[in-house]
Amino acid sequence: MLSIHRIRLLATLALVAAVTSPPHSAMAQKRPATAASAKGDPRIARLKAELSAAIDANAKLAQVMTDQVFSFGELGMQEVETSKYLTGVLEEHGFTITRGVAGIPTAWVARWGSGKPVIALGSDIDGIPQSGQKPAVAFRDWIVPGSPGHGEGHNSGVPLNILAALAVKDIMTREKMSGTIVLWPGVAEEQLASKAYLVRAGVFNDVDANLFAHVSDEFGISWGDEPLLSLISAQFKFKGSSAHAAGAPWRGRSALDAVMAMANSWEYHREHMELSQRSHYVITDGGDQPNVVPATAAIWFFFRERDAERVTKMFGDAKQIARAAAQATFTELDSVQVIGSAWRPHFNKPIAEAMHANARQVGTPKWDANDQTMAKAVQKMLSWPDSGLRTTVPPLRTPDEAAKASSGTGSDDIGDVTWTVPSVTLYYPANIPGTPGHNWADGIAMATPIAHKGVVAGAKVQAMTLLDLMIQPTLVVEAKRYFTDVQTKTVKYAPLMAPTDMPAIWLNAEKMARYRDQMRPFYYDPKRFDSYLKQLGIAYPTLAPKTP
Ligand SMILES: [Zn+2]
Repeated sequence: MLSIHRIRLLATLALVAAVTSPPHSAMAQKRPATAASAKGDPRIARLKAELSAAIDANAKLAQVMTDQVFSFGELGMQEVETSKYLTGVLEEHGFTITRGVAGIPTAWVARWGSGKPVIALGSDIDGIPQSGQKPAVAFRDWIVPGSPGHGEGHNSGVPLNILAALAVKDIMTREKMSGTIVLWPGVAEEQLASKAYLVRAGVFNDVDANLFAHVSDEFGISWGDEPLLSLISAQFKFKGSSAHAAGAPWRGRSALDAVMAMANSWEYHREHMELSQRSHYVITDGGDQPNVVPATAAIWFFFRERDAERVTKMFGDAKQIARAAAQATFTELDSVQVIGSAWRPHFNKPIAEAMHANARQVGTPKWDANDQTMAKAVQKMLSWPDSGLRTTVPPLRTPDEAAKASSGTGSDDIGDVTWTVPSVTLYYPANIPGTPGHNWADGIAMATPIAHKGVVAGAKVQAMTLLDLMIQPTLVVEAKRYFTDVQTKTVKYAPLMAPTDMPAIWLNAEKMARYRDQMRPFYYDPKRFDSYLKQLGIAYPTLAPKTP
């Protein structure tokens, strides 16, 4: 999904488990009394400096992983190569992997360490249809025409988490610290199709806190309700009967008529909905050819509203309209399949404050002239103010500011995790301000030094926050207290899908099968090439097509 910070910018520029067993290390004795008082703790400051240096020293791995996942360009539920590769890296570094989590073939959990606290690091891994694009090129240039790609930048988040985890793991090993690091991927985030199932499968049952990471064009950290919408996505399939559309149309019953009746009725109904709703649809099956009355047809809706109650009501209305459409067209409503669901996210205040302090300390990446030239060329191409890459860390955002900045936006199934365990999303600066989101232009920077530097800077913030949680039991306690006494005091989480709903693991299978063989020759080979740009023979930055 589009990062909130980018959404906020678009809006602004529209005029244009309580810790029971403390660490049993020597360090534990000198543990600060409260999270706040840890600020000036010299040991923590020294360890954070060490983390920062270790991550800088591992910058090559950041580039290799980011470029590698970029080159796979896999769509939701089909992240086969991506998951194989990332779990391989983690396994090499001593993590234990559980694959096929929650009945989702490309979902996994990687664990290292032992005992409390258990801190999870998550990030999305899926791509966007038709967003395949050569990196570092400031104009439309496919690698494989028509192919999916990382037009959202989801190739960078798990590499960031791995970098952070490896650095903290080394310190924990040396200091003999108690604690468990858990890594997990957001599968099919673009369809909001996996995280509620991970929650249901118990992935977060023993997790004390969760740090998520999402690409953005700045360090965006906030607490409280995010200005995102809760969502249910569902496909409605209709069944009619075929006949010669000219010879004997009276013998047929068109399932496509039902789809169109449903869509039209929804448009009439839209007039009577609250203004905050967002709903949209595509016809996934409209029949085969005009002279055959369509015996099957299907329409896929996204329903979005501010909270679980409202979105559940919308879905109920849609089911009534679907039944009525079938009746009016003498067809049958064959099935209603939930494909995705998401609660509106809510981020944890104490963890967000700790994370923001770390972001302030790390600062934005050191962009060079090439990075800024690349960014400005992309902004010009998009008719966006060419202000280049951001060089400051914005203040910690409060829910009030978030609400003011919002003009009604997307959704993110991290919401379900945030209502299950204290969580914060780290938005990190690894992309160019002004890109439209879910678009090939969002992929341009994602296998260039802009992404590589953003991943390194983001990994430092993630690692420091992970260390804060590992080393200061009080921070975990405060996070839990906020979660219990404030966030979930009156609002109780219940998944938006039914117990009988199962993950839509068939999503994108056909699309991916169409392109995978053509994309395979372009997978990044780090043994032969220093970077993906070198492999593709692209100069950084490339501002205009070569004239023959
Ligand atoms: Zn996203």
